[in-house]
Amino acid sequence: MGLLDGKTLLVTGVLTEGSIAYHVARLAQLEGATVILTSFGRTARLTAAIARRLPHECPVVQLDVTSDEDLTLLAERVREHTDHLDGVVHSIGFAPQTVLGGNFLSAQWQDVATAIQVSAFSLKSLAVAAQPLMPPGSGVVGLTFDASFAWPVYDWMGVAKAAFESTSRYLARDLGPAGIRCNLVAAGPVKTTAATSIPGFEKIESGWSARAPLGWDMTDAVPTAKAVLALLSDWFPATTGEIVHVDGGVHAMGS
Ligand code: NAD
Repeated sequence: MGLLDGKTLLVTGVLTEGSIAYHVARLAQLEGATVILTSFGRTARLTAAIARRLPHECPVVQLDVTSDEDLTLLAERVREHTDHLDGVVHSIGFAPQTVLGGNFLSAQWQDVATAIQVSAFSLKSLAVAAQPLMPPGSGVVGLTFDASFAWPVYDWMGVAKAAFESTSRYLARDLGPAGIRCNLVAAGPVKTTAATSIPGFEKIESGWSARAPLGWDMTDAVPTAKAVLALLSDWFPATTGEIVHVDGGVHAMGS
């Protein structure tokens, strides 16, 4: 019996086979879930190709989280494939290069606004768009990079993640009465397209595995994906507004 037998999940953010969301989708299927992916614009072809390489080919629904039209049509588009969603995975992040990589002081508001809209406000947008399909007992899970600290080069993406973490707590408050949970996984650094497009990413990840009591493999998104799926399973029925660290233990160490 699989951890997610009989469940249907909407998984955003599959861009490559390195994407954290790819491993979420793959392992979810292996644990018995039915998966629907989302993608948008020029990346849609890549996502469709990857959807064919999953253990079970799955549909891809159009969703740019900054598009009012896509958000309005999301439930209708998903209903072509299922009448409900037991889980929604937010695996989306973007910030213009001008607000990353040591440009904290020179960043301009329009670029910061883009980072916050795509990377933080989108959690609310996605949850509200999917809510009509989500019965009591369902859940939303997103991915953060611990926003309790100022990291090298992460700059305004770090500020966006702080907003993202706060957004998750407010969603937990406002969706809780409908029986919908909202939780985050705070992952350590994983070598994905989003991560390696941050100029100076190596300054964040260097030394991580030495500081992690459990060690840390930056090329392995599986531990992170497993935590996402555990939170979407029936085994966290009374947990919401939570952030689970999957970082080898770095967050708990003094140095
Ligand atoms: P990734 O590049 O594979 O995924 C990022 C995804 O965001 C892509 O699929 C991209 O298409 C999507 N996206 C960007 N703008 C969008 C928009 N307007 N609408 C819809 N989708 C959009 O990288 P990843 O590392 O797998 O990132 C997934 C999540 O994990 C992000 O929230 C990221 O911040 C978070 N995270 C990553 C790491 C890491 O080190 N890789 C660590 C902690 C948290």
